[in-house]
Amino acid sequence: MIGQKILLKFILLTGLISLMSERKATCSEIYLTQKPHVVILSLDGFRWDYLDLYHTPNLDSIGRVGVKAHSLKPCFPSKTFPNHYSIATGMHPDHHGIVSNSFLDPKLNLKYSLGNRKAVRDARFYQGEPMWVTAEKQDVKSACYFWPGSEAPIKGVYPSMWKKYVHKMPFESRIDSVINWLSLPQQKRPRLLMWYMHEPDLAGHLYGPRSKETRLMVERLDSLVGVFCRKMNKLPIAESVQLIVLSDHGMGAISPQKVVDLSKVLKEEWLEDISGSNPFYMIKPKAEFAEKVYKHLKAEKHIRTFKKNEVPKRLVFGSNDRIYPIVCVADSAWSIYWNKKKYSKGGTHGYDPDNKDMHAIFLAAGNQFKRNYSHPTFSNTEVYNLVMHLLGVKPAENDGNIERVKSILKDTE
Ligand code: AMP
Ligand code: ZN
Ligand code: ZN
Repeated sequence: MIGQKILLKFILLTGLISLMSERKATCSEIYLTQKPHVVILSLDGFRWDYLDLYHTPNLDSIGRVGVKAHSLKPCFPSKTFPNHYSIATGMHPDHHGIVSNSFLDPKLNLKYSLGNRKAVRDARFYQGEPMWVTAEKQDVKSACYFWPGSEAPIKGVYPSMWKKYVHKMPFESRIDSVINWLSLPQQKRPRLLMWYMHEPDLAGHLYGPRSKETRLMVERLDSLVGVFCRKMNKLPIAESVQLIVLSDHGMGAISPQKVVDLSKVLKEEWLEDISGSNPFYMIKPKAEFAEKVYKHLKAEKHIRTFKKNEVPKRLVFGSNDRIYPIVCVADSAWSIYWNKKKYSKGGTHGYDPDNKDMHAIFLAAGNQFKRNYSHPTFSNTEVYNLVMHLLGVKPAENDGNIERVKSILKDTE
């Protein structure tokens, strides 16, 4: 009996001590949370005007309590890997080396493609410095949930936490993992957290940007963003979270009637290699056929063909040795294939970033951002400096300039 009482006292006492130390931890955490946490969610292929076309109350409210850019302009080519890595590095694909979703590195003599697990984990493909590496180098913990590039030890550095890409991972599980990461004790908790959902890109490809399926997907994602925000707002660090929701590019409607089949324009034996996917291709002709290939492509309507050194300056594309000698991109709404049996309908991206349908979203909220503030369109190469500024980390060399987006932040004076 006496033994039981002692045990009970012991349990009560240890309970009290742990409660007190928990409270103590919470108090010191409140102090420490003055340092912002930056959470970036990328919704692949979320076109800028889906916010107007579809019912998106949760995303709208992020823009209302924070900042909404008219649109976020992607880099050329407006494909997934080049643009996620531009967001991460502040550099154009020509400068960070992920020049397309697939390419050949001539020095390594190795091919990169987003579906090649070995390649995406090979740090040698990634030039420039992604934000998680800059952060880690300056003792700011980072975590990436499926961000392109985050599975490779770039400059020898991994994010403190990261996951191998699993396409089928339910969106709800991704939310729970992100919330768990944000719930970690201060010493382990990432202050930079980047995560990814592969929709509404897929729905946009299959059914087109203005389809019922894409609308339903956009609306589902919006409600998932609502679920995430409600969970996040219950966290002790909620006040310090700077939430950015963005996308890598938009989506343009295509039709089987507007197709250029390159296999009808060029002979296979003229080519050493061709890489890319609708509507963007890079072509390496055999040396003896170089002019012939160029002339045939140049004569083709509905596509634009450039020699590597004549790509318009505004596209910032042509200096990297991974870019093949000829670059082809379809005009808006047109498709380019190589000997495809059944032409796709639905949508695609990869077009000139001046095509507004390629533009993405940028929404941000948190105590460092202005409230109810609209900003004109800006390039996704500005995001890197912005995040580095929020984290108090010195940025690496990049193509952005904080002055172009600083006005979305609260005046610190
Ligand atoms: P695309 O529409 O061809 O530019 O690429 C979109 C696709 O990229 C998505 O549907 C995903 O399957 C794929 N993807 C996105 N992130 C990753 C990643 N981190 N690793 C592998 N594949 C990815
Ligand atoms: Zn994408
Ligand atoms: Zn896509």
